[in-house]
Amino acid sequence: MKRLLEFIGYSDQLNDKNKFSYIITGVGLLQILFFLVFYMLQSLQVSQVLILQTTAVFLIYGSSILFYKREMFLTGKIVMILALSIQVFLLIWLWYPEAVYMIMFFFIVPPITFIVFDLEKKADRYALLLINIFVTFLLIMGAILEPHELLELNSEHEMLFRMVTILMTYFVQILVFFFYAHRLAVKRKELRLLADTDVLTNISNRRVLFEMGHKMFNMCSKYESDFMLMILDIDHFKSINDMYGHPVGDQILRELTQLISKNIRREDLLCRFGGEEFAIILKNVNEEQESVIRTIRDIINNHHFYVNEHEHINVTFSAGVLSCQKQLQSFEQMVVIADKLLYKAKNEGRNRIIFENGDIIL
Ligand code: GH3
Ligand code: MG
Ligand code: MG
Repeated sequence: MKRLLEFIGYSDQLNDKNKFSYIITGVGLLQILFFLVFYMLQSLQVSQVLILQTTAVFLIYGSSILFYKREMFLTGKIVMILALSIQVFLLIWLWYPEAVYMIMFFFIVPPITFIVFDLEKKADRYALLLINIFVTFLLIMGAILEPHELLELNSEHEMLFRMVTILMTYFVQILVFFFYAHRLAVKRKELRLLADTDVLTNISNRRVLFEMGHKMFNMCSKYESDFMLMILDIDHFKSINDMYGHPVGDQILRELTQLISKNIRREDLLCRFGGEEFAIILKNVNEEQESVIRTIRDIINNHHFYVNEHEHINVTFSAGVLSCQKQLQSFEQMVVIADKLLYKAKNEGRNRIIFENGDIIL
């Protein structure tokens, strides 16, 4: 099976749209085989017209696979949908009585075109449009042309075929739309993660801070739920860069974020505020929070940041901290105050954390 798939050019590396084209082609081929066998069993004869038509549709499907194999996917997809449309047209117009509703199969084609064609590409958009116009034309023709039924079905089979046609059409529609919606949801999640993440440190970025900050601030003013904001800035980081190089500076930023992440709770938020500045939101403040902040400070101050295989340095930071209070206007105002406290900490000699109530951790 694997060999066969490889032989026809199918692989896991293909994108979803191209994989889907292979699947539909396979299903189309199976479908025509099924109808052929059923037809022969019913009529107990081999009609030449039938064999000719089936072979023609088979060949058209086959050539679409040849195109896929040569990576000419657009042509392959157009050919595949043509094969599908012709097959449906023959089923409606020549093979079966009108009463079995084969015409419903045409409603499968438009959603399939949305799945297999890449709407970002102009040529694909044109192909999609033209094919849908063509299928609408076939649908109208199928409805107005006098059918030349090759086969008369008994009433049981007629009923069975009618049900199968209706259910298959619904099922394929649901499947195709589910697939489409699922792909969109996955892409949205990926994009959201990219937009929220800082590339260097892999933690959240400023956007997330303000989004969460606004939410927390609203909760705080409505329900008295408390939270703390801390903005910290590494001391003399420029000289670390100057002395050991930018890549070492980068590594220190990554290590520092890991140290902090390990020492805050899951519900808290650490994010990169700017170059060597970070912000932390600590939720549900209690007396322990000051000790959490002290622990973070101690762990960072005592950590050995290796600048080469043998040498390590210690890093300190300065920070401003405040908790959400009734008299504050907005989260932005909290950021401004935390920034001022941080500035004060720098001016007073660095390596310290200043709280809005005047407390200092040295
Ligand atoms: P201070 O104690 O006053 O904060 O001094 P400082 O040297 O840390 O502050 P300053 O604002 O003068 O310099 C910040 C430095 O941080 C300058 C910049 O090169 C460095 N920096 C910012 N972003 C990055 C980064 O992504 N990687 C590295 N390696 N360095 C960065
Ligand atoms: Mg700075
Ligand atoms: Mg700094």
